[in-house]
Amino acid sequence: MDNRLVLYNTLTRKKEKFEPLNPPFVGMYVCGPTVYSDVHLGNCRTFVSFDLIFRYLTHLGYKVRYVRNITDAGHLEGDNDEGDDKFAKKAKLERLEPMEIVQKYTLGFHEVLRLFNTLPPSIEPTATGHISEQIEMVKKIIEQGYAYEVNGTVYFDVEKYVKEYDYTILTNRKLDDLLNNTRELNGQDEKRGRLDFALWIKAKPEHIMRWPSPWGVGFPGWHIECSAMSSKYLGDQFDIHGGGMDLAATHHTNEIAQSQACNHMQPAKYWMHTNMLTVNGTRMSKSAGNGFLPHELFSGSHPLLERGYSPMAVRFFMLQAHYRSTLDFSNEALEAADKGYRRLMNAMALLPKLNATAKNTEIKVDELKARCYAAMDDDFNSPVLIAELFDAVRIINSAYDGKLTLDEPSLVSLRTLMQDFVHGVLGLVDDNTGSDDFEKLMDVVISLRNEAKHSKDYTTSDRIREGLSSIGIQLKDSKDGTLWNKI
Ligand code: AMP
Ligand code: ZN
Repeated sequence: MDNRLVLYNTLTRKKEKFEPLNPPFVGMYVCGPTVYSDVHLGNCRTFVSFDLIFRYLTHLGYKVRYVRNITDAGHLEGDNDEGDDKFAKKAKLERLEPMEIVQKYTLGFHEVLRLFNTLPPSIEPTATGHISEQIEMVKKIIEQGYAYEVNGTVYFDVEKYVKEYDYTILTNRKLDDLLNNTRELNGQDEKRGRLDFALWIKAKPEHIMRWPSPWGVGFPGWHIECSAMSSKYLGDQFDIHGGGMDLAATHHTNEIAQSQACNHMQPAKYWMHTNMLTVNGTRMSKSAGNGFLPHELFSGSHPLLERGYSPMAVRFFMLQAHYRSTLDFSNEALEAADKGYRRLMNAMALLPKLNATAKNTEIKVDELKARCYAAMDDDFNSPVLIAELFDAVRIINSAYDGKLTLDEPSLVSLRTLMQDFVHGVLGLVDDNTGSDDFEKLMDVVISLRNEAKHSKDYTTSDRIREGLSSIGIQLKDSKDGTLWNKI
């Protein structure tokens, strides 16, 4: 295991050496999707970013317990316990049971993440499966004196909390600014303080998803689910808590407050936040109506797209930006990413075809490998890693063209390096070629072309070569037979 990893901790606002609480074990909790509609590409960016982090930590030898929840209850339209229940509203609209909505969009979410080749989390708990844990936590917060009940709803007492703890620790905002940005309470409000938020909400008669509790029939607030499930599976204090940057101001701020009030400790040692996927500089979101669905991107059916892109090319597009930078969505950027991805996959396909030679051109694979690790050790810097891997691509292409030679140890180490970083860490696989069927199909096409050539039917052999070339497959005749590669 390597201990040079440095990561940016949102809590301290600086890069810190990664020192897990209980090595080699690492507990990582990531806020998952609210499954009342299809995930959009922005959501996927966050999950692909944490997949990269999960993969690299695992590659370094850590035993990661990766918990990513499914929010299937308790998420109201506004962040501040206001508005309709998202699930009930959608269920009414689609004429389905709320749990049918949950099932439908959970399956869709899994399918999309499978296409993006993300690894499944170790545990994927649901809010509805952990109602009793949430009730227990709310009870404990009341016992500790940081929450109060009004007419069947339980509120977290932020005013009391701020006397002892720093409520805005995660975002470094000023409490006065926060108060000024929150509407004043009026006679109809049950809560005592403007910043107080609901831990448990009394169910109106029409509310379908409801459970009994010590405070009457109701449902949990959104923030309590993550506090209850993270502490259940990872303990009261664990290593990494993550999610998109948009969650820091409210959801994560309230999670910290709930855990501090309950256990008197910070729930996570490191907080990691991914930056947003934007469209023309505006955050992609369901509410803004600028959300691209992954399938619209794969098929090219979205009106703003010139053509479709494969899930792997889109994954490459996402990984070409650092997870803490914004990433703007455009046809040009996707086109460039697609080219880069194809070049990388082409080099991967050539690797097994390279033969070792006795003499070695001066190629320092060890130094290249060290630079790949240095990139990822520096807060998971995937764009720098990709730039280093393109050095490897140049070496592979030159070796294939006979412009340089690789001895056995260099070739073995280059193959391992590419396997580890391209497949293992970046999670990029060949989406097109490389499948058994495709290889067999190419064997058939090449043998037909060679037969035509032998019988001097150059019209047919040229047509096959040109046809393949028009879809980006190049043939190369060598003493070992006809080789092919995709550009
Ligand atoms: P939600 O289903 O809205 O709760 O979001 C699921 C995850 O996607 C959360 O971690 C969000 O922070 C994240 N997310 C939402 N919009 C974007 C975006 N435009 N870019 C990146 N991540 C996002
Ligand atoms: Zn959460």
